[in-house]
Amino acid sequence: MVRNVELFKKIDSYINSLGQIGIKDGIRWRSIFTEADREAKMLFKDFIEKEGLVASEDAVGNVYGRLENSEDYDNVKKVLVGSHIDTVRDGGAFDGAAGMIIGLLAVAESIKRFGSPKIPIEVIALAEEEGSRYSMAYVGSKAIVHGLGEKELNIEDENGISFKNAMFQAGYDPKQVAKAKRGDILTYMEAHIEQGPVLEKTASKIGIVERINGIFCLEVEIVGREDHAGTTPMDMRQDSLVAAAKFIAKLPDITAKISRSATATVGKIKVEPGSSNVVPKKTTFTIDFRDMDSDNLRMLNHAIQLELDHLQENDVRVSYRLAASELPVDLDKNLVDLCERVVKDMEIPYQKMNSGAGHDAQIFAERFPSMLLFIPCKNGRSHSPVEHASSDDMYMAVEVFVGMLRKIAW
Ligand SMILES: [Zn+2]
Repeated sequence: MVRNVELFKKIDSYINSLGQIGIKDGIRWRSIFTEADREAKMLFKDFIEKEGLVASEDAVGNVYGRLENSEDYDNVKKVLVGSHIDTVRDGGAFDGAAGMIIGLLAVAESIKRFGSPKIPIEVIALAEEEGSRYSMAYVGSKAIVHGLGEKELNIEDENGISFKNAMFQAGYDPKQVAKAKRGDILTYMEAHIEQGPVLEKTASKIGIVERINGIFCLEVEIVGREDHAGTTPMDMRQDSLVAAAKFIAKLPDITAKISRSATATVGKIKVEPGSSNVVPKKTTFTIDFRDMDSDNLRMLNHAIQLELDHLQENDVRVSYRLAASELPVDLDKNLVDLCERVVKDMEIPYQKMNSGAGHDAQIFAERFPSMLLFIPCKNGRSHSPVEHASSDDMYMAVEVFVGMLRKIAW
């Protein structure tokens, strides 16, 4: 592959400048309807215009780059290429951003090399994939694929600011949110850093994703009684944290019994009143559990709930709520095959794989043929400031998408 130096430099400069946005007190965080979000969108719109496309935003704040090259533009189906613009709190510069830039440059390069496409191609920077401000992920893609309802608009962040209000404050009209929904999508294509160590370990440069893990999340609340830590005998306590700890310690066994690939994680726990000399009255925690197989996931859900129900015997009250239940999603077989042909032609070392992390591509895949391509990230690290992907690998992904777009849209 003869390297286009100008394209390589652009990748470097775009990813570096976007990575500077949202850093405050040494921590990078871009969440929806914040100043960092606004700045990142402005910069990406700049990139879009520089690449000769027209930038715009939809009702929920997804940024588009378009080339409206025909009169019946509105009536034909389009190819969407992109990823998300937000980051988690203390996140890296590549999660989401790499995919947006790969998408933009692939579209711009294709048009430069092959002229105006027969099928319109649009670049997209999706709003809030991570759900780091509101406990609601895939905001931008859900608004496009399914639409957002009242329930979503009323959800509150940790400061009690509703999504609707934040949206309004940022200059968007919550009443218009339905306008973001689309039916005119032929294909959704997303590039993303792998966020795991597999590609690096196998010296593969491209991962072609066939299936995305299902993710369930239970929110659990255990209520006992607060008592004096010094005067209440051990056998007379209703300690919510001891009950929670008993359950959490069993979780690896429960998971292993269902499947070897399943994971279960308690990553967030809160103890109240949270004082060293008071028996914990209330313990709340989340259980994130995932698997590649829908049946396994349902069985795991059942087994976990059964175990939680048994906890009641410890003189505590247990309640739980299923906060998320995303089943595993298959990506489009034809797009996987096409991607494989292109990658083979270019003699790039690749592998087919599944994704353990959730992505916007899974939301699109619920209604439209969709694909997801991974590039390696250093030491498999992600959701951390040390996250890194090389410009060489991003360059390769741009070329793969150019090869695919040529076959799809010209
Ligand atoms: Zn991501």
